[in-house]
Amino acid sequence: MSGKVWLIGAGPGDPELLTLKAVRAMAQADVVLIDDLVNPAVLEHCPSARVISVGKRGGCRSTPQDFIHRLMLRYARQGRRVARLKGGDPCIFGRGGEEADWLTARGIDCELVNGITAGLAAATQCGISVTLRGISRGVTLVTAHTQDDSPLNWRGLAEGGTTLVVYMGVAKLAEIRDGLLDGGMAAGTPVAMIESASLPTQREYRSQLASMLDDAQRFALKSPAILVIGEVAAAAQQAILARTA
Ligand code: SAH
Repeated sequence: MSGKVWLIGAGPGDPELLTLKAVRAMAQADVVLIDDLVNPAVLEHCPSARVISVGKRGGCRSTPQDFIHRLMLRYARQGRRVARLKGGDPCIFGRGGEEADWLTARGIDCELVNGITAGLAAATQCGISVTLRGISRGVTLVTAHTQDDSPLNWRGLAEGGTTLVVYMGVAKLAEIRDGLLDGGMAAGTPVAMIESASLPTQREYRSQLASMLDDAQRFALKSPAILVIGEVAAAAQQAILARTA
């Protein structure tokens, strides 16, 4: 009997934002590997599966990526059905593609299951339309944190004119602010900082590019958080909050 691995996006946190496909895959799984940004409440969909935490936060040492690969491979070769749960979407800053390639190259049947990525969920939960008609013609998802610490092309982003949605930015606010200001973005550009989007602990704070670091400190912004940078972050202030729907 051959096993299978699903690389599943578990969404931003609210268990109701899981896809039906994710729920169906979880129900079939024998083993579930869960990342730390995944809300453990979603485990109600796999009550009899063996659950293994492979999170990289919470004071624990990282579970090395190689170890996670081998764990999935071992279970799949034993004929088990493995659900690997990742926060948001597996392929947005989530290594879903890498893991799928690695497993497929070893002959493992592997399926990627979309999830709602945190950046887009965070904006919508705050009533922000990242592509608000007449204001923004597009959206760019960026991470402030790179494997090799290489700098982003801030000028290109500043001049691009799209809404910027920044992941992993809490520790890099000064760099983001300076990069965008140096790149020509206006100091008064609206910024929304959204912490723990879609969870009961969600907090949001509206600021501007030049003052976002000071405001974040005053607000004690902590990870996980998303920054939405662009005119849409102010245009949405009157919008009906999606989460009250
Ligand atoms: N694959 C994930 C992203 C993983 S990178 C996705 O598609 O959403 C981890 C970053 O995601 C965090 O540093 C934070 O910027 C963001 N993030 C994840 N969950 C979040 C949440 N509930 N609220 C705000 N940001 C979140």
